[in-house]
Amino acid sequence: MASRFPQHTIMQRSDKRGEIVLVLTPIGRDASLICSLLDRAGLAGIVASDVEGLVRELREGAGAAVMTEESLRPATVAMLIEWLQQQPPWSDFPIVVLTSGGESTRGSLRRFEMSKQLGNITLLERPVRSVTLLSAVEAALRARRRQYEAKDYIAERHRSEEVLVSQAEALARSNADLQQFAYVTSHDLQEPLRNIRAFAQMLAKRYHGEFDGEALELLDFISGGAARMHALIQDLLSYSRVVNDEPRVFAPVPMGTALAWAIQNLQLSIGESQAKITHDALPDAWGDVITIVQLLQNLLANAIKYRSERPLQIHVCGRREGAECVFGIRDNGIGMAPQYHERIFGLFKRLHGKEIAGTGIGLTICRKIVERHKGRIWVESSQNIGSTFWFTLPAAPDGPSLPTP
Ligand code: ADP
Repeated sequence: MASRFPQHTIMQRSDKRGEIVLVLTPIGRDASLICSLLDRAGLAGIVASDVEGLVRELREGAGAAVMTEESLRPATVAMLIEWLQQQPPWSDFPIVVLTSGGESTRGSLRRFEMSKQLGNITLLERPVRSVTLLSAVEAALRARRRQYEAKDYIAERHRSEEVLVSQAEALARSNADLQQFAYVTSHDLQEPLRNIRAFAQMLAKRYHGEFDGEALELLDFISGGAARMHALIQDLLSYSRVVNDEPRVFAPVPMGTALAWAIQNLQLSIGESQAKITHDALPDAWGDVITIVQLLQNLLANAIKYRSERPLQIHVCGRREGAECVFGIRDNGIGMAPQYHERIFGLFKRLHGKEIAGTGIGLTICRKIVERHKGRIWVESSQNIGSTFWFTLPAAPDGPSLPTP
């Protein structure tokens, strides 16, 4: 049974269990003396008349315990050890043990050996001065307070980690859903759109002679809208593919060869625009060649699309910088004002209306591809002078070359 001393004082002085000092002494007078000392110092003490009472109070929570050597019988120590072993890792419960003074006897040595198993103990030899006992108890309480703070800190960290993990999971789920949604809708829109385009063509063909100018103009609007929607769906599908596809196995990518592939894919528009494309010797990158060709192709296509009246010149440069390579695609096209340099990489962000066809997805795809390679992409551009699109990719350690197209 634990008896409180003096009960009302304890509850007024401390309603925090971590501040309570448990006292276990076989001699009642010792307990009273210790408790009045604690009380005078403004500390809350609870007297346990036996070890069961002590363990019960320990389970409720306590800051420290004061015990006399005589109370350390094998059964008492065994019960305390059992309780200590059940404690969480942050806990190292402090116990102040008052030993008998004078010559060591066999019994006192044995008890001393036993007490060592209790871990965090402070031995004070009797007769002990009040200030010594009080300062030992206060040090023990301070140590316990720090343990409780560590516990709160650990709990807080666990909580924030859990919140972070669940938020990341929710975000990943909603991203996956959105990507899936974008893919499915753009994929499913293709069929009805094909019908609209086909029927508009049929109408134009069959009733060409009968339609007046206004009807033909309206038909033109339908075909134009359908063509724009077709481009948008195609771009959305390629965006979904870049985002949804499992990352492919990375390999050395000879950028000169990747550039040649991109140029070959754009032969028609290069011919039409009479673009002059030059390049330096490019270093080998490390990545997924298919998406890197797509990246080069998108940037070259933009350089062609946003050309000025001047004869178009495009130059591709590249250099190795430590573990990465930096590439640049420079054009002498229309360029853009500084306030748009960041914005143009956002989805559907365009600086033009219908006068230049486009969907505002191309650069978002480029950014995704570069990010999948843990690289960066940015633009340096001046209006009416031209733009250079820069991007980084990991450098290849040493790579075999790809076949030239
Ligand atoms: P789109 O070309 O379909 O509009 P992009 O995402 O490829 O979409 O490009 C976004 C915008 O960035 C374009 O609308 C254009 O205004 C601007 N832009 C891209 N490349 C260039 C370039 N080489 N020169 C000037 N402006 C460019």
